[in-house]
Amino acid sequence: MKAVSIILLYFIATVLSHDHHDDSSSPARGCGYRAPDVAAMEDMAHRDERRLEKSTSPRGLFRCDACGSGSRFRTIDTYIHVIQMMNRTGHLPDAAIEENIKVTNELLWSTGFQLKVVSTNRITNDVWYISDWDSDEEMDIKRQLKQGGLDTLNIYYKAAFVDGDRVCGYANLAEDAVYWPEDDGVVVDTLCATNKTILAHEFGHWMNLLHTFDGGCSPGDLVDDTNGQAMPMKYLSEECPDPLPDTCPDAGFDPLDNIMDYAPNGCGDIFTPGQVQRMHDAWRKIRRA
Ligand SMILES: [Zn+2]
Repeated sequence: MKAVSIILLYFIATVLSHDHHDDSSSPARGCGYRAPDVAAMEDMAHRDERRLEKSTSPRGLFRCDACGSGSRFRTIDTYIHVIQMMNRTGHLPDAAIEENIKVTNELLWSTGFQLKVVSTNRITNDVWYISDWDSDEEMDIKRQLKQGGLDTLNIYYKAAFVDGDRVCGYANLAEDAVYWPEDDGVVVDTLCATNKTILAHEFGHWMNLLHTFDGGCSPGDLVDDTNGQAMPMKYLSEECPDPLPDTCPDAGFDPLDNIMDYAPNGCGDIFTPGQVQRMHDAWRKIRRA
């Protein structure tokens, strides 16, 4: 188990029991990223400062003068690995995968990043399908399938288990990938491939974004323009609450419209300029360094 930050729970409730049996009647929920503790977040903040001190390029959004071909977007080579069971549990049609990427690219439009699918690879393996994060079986998957370096995104569609709980997906932070490059990538549960924001949310972690409520009211999520948020809203319905909760004094309403929160899709799906900047910093100083 990584001590530092790998990220947890997108919609809070985890549904399946701990026995790792696939049960498509019980939709998986949650993002399995393990949030950093306060000491780890302080280290992250210091590393942020050091990275930016060394930076010679101007900061700002859409720094794409180096993108080439006049494009305002940075395209990220993306390898897709779809794992299913012998009995076709977890089977995802091509159209579902294409739709997931299309919807995600629409959500990422404001960030200046776009995913460019290089290949889609299909594997049938029962043990791999139900493997837990950090298990030997999952490391086998990544050892055999993972493509490229830190600037290449690998997406694994499979059952997403973290410590025995089934979640919608999980990812490692960019800065953790420096220490554990063999573990780098994003997992999306096959039951959640139609969830509008899950892949964009996990991509956010992959680009070093924390949950808006990680770090509570202070130090917060290390982004200046997301309102403070003490805790995620308890996931009770698809309805966005009215009025919005306000869990930190003098910080404004909780940012339930943010992709890095767990709120229902109906609250909105945005990244703030500060988050976009943090993603570009991660790209420039970590993934493309
Ligand atoms: Zn998350």
